Amino acid sequence: MREDVVPLLQRLVTCDTSNPPGNEAAAAAILEAYLDPFGIELERVAKDPARPNLVARLRGRESGPSVAFLGHLDVVKARREDWSVDPFAGVIRDGAVWGRGTVDMKCQVAATAVALATLAHEGFTPDGDVMVLLMADEEVGEAGVGAPFFVEARPDIRPDFIVGEGAGERYETESGPVYLVDRGVKASASAQVLVHGHPGDASLAGNGRSAIREAARLVERLASTQPTRRVPPEVEPLLAVADGHPELGAVAESLTTNVWRATTIEATGPTNVVPDRAEIGLYGAVLPGEERGDLERELRERLGDGTYELDVEKPEGGRTSGIDTPLFRAIESFVAEHDPDARVVPALGYGYSDCDTFRGAHGSVVYGFIPFRHADPAQNLQTKHGVDERVLVDDLLFQVDCARHVALTVGTT
Ligand SMILES: [Zn+2]
Repeated sequence: MREDVVPLLQRLVTCDTSNPPGNEAAAAAILEAYLDPFGIELERVAKDPARPNLVARLRGRESGPSVAFLGHLDVVKARREDWSVDPFAGVIRDGAVWGRGTVDMKCQVAATAVALATLAHEGFTPDGDVMVLLMADEEVGEAGVGAPFFVEARPDIRPDFIVGEGAGERYETESGPVYLVDRGVKASASAQVLVHGHPGDASLAGNGRSAIREAARLVERLASTQPTRRVPPEVEPLLAVADGHPELGAVAESLTTNVWRATTIEATGPTNVVPDRAEIGLYGAVLPGEERGDLERELRERLGDGTYELDVEKPEGGRTSGIDTPLFRAIESFVAEHDPDARVVPALGYGYSDCDTFRGAHGSVVYGFIPFRHADPAQNLQTKHGVDERVLVDDLLFQVDCARHVALTVGTT
């Protein structure tokens, strides 16, 4: 029955949930059709009927903690001509299922659904509810129909322990193979740089002072100055194994600095006037605990002098969960059993995920962990949100086994 995960993932891939528009209802229907015969309780929680969140629940005895697997049904867009296969055909090739969302994160959606189905089929009754929570609109988040809506609409669904997306690739390091578990994510921040110039007739050489030219100088300056390095305590275990490893080194770099990128720029014409105003939008993935004032000081120092005003918004998110928990131990015991040479290393995620929303809403212990025992981690990092995304069938089965282990271990005392 664990082999169900392959056709189920293929069906989910052929159901195009590129966001926008998302169309998560079609993917929810596929999962409902699969889970319903096993007696799993199913419920859609929707602000927009075309974009539901889905709750699948194996009812517990209410005598112990509840566990949830958190996933999302939407995917980022894919252009057919960039790929070597049709990204929405669910092709199997070289022992892998290919297609948009196979890594991020329909693999885990299918694997946790199959795990729940097998547990129900075996007659397992957990101490607390075991749930699969599938959110809409994780990738864009602007429609207001996904996780932030869900936690507000259903405060009664507050799992004690949650496994969501994030780390889970297996890295070969000098001190042996490791799996990272994200116990938190960086916070998100944004800032606007309003750049002033002096207007003038654009036909006359050297006339005026262009705000666009000044904006370009500031963007270049931001990109070419080094951010201050600071090691949050949550990142120390990762640094101990990341030395000399290319991908882990890049992750460690992201987790010890505030990463600021210019992501929007705006100046309006007319085209024959030297512009006296331009606005740069900055996006920051910043370290947990950074305050607005810290960020403003850092940005002013990096941008240097110039004719601009800087406005930094308060960072959002960046919460972390403790690791002295039955869920962390369940992940460790799964790895010890199935991959005894490897170790589990707690770390942070470098980008946003819905995990943070659930940490913030209910104080749940939430980890990002989708285990990939066999995949080359570099390939995962390059293909998700990229081209030729694919997951090995062996990894899908590993993910089913991991979800079952977590549910059985945390779900019974
Ligand atoms: Zn994702």
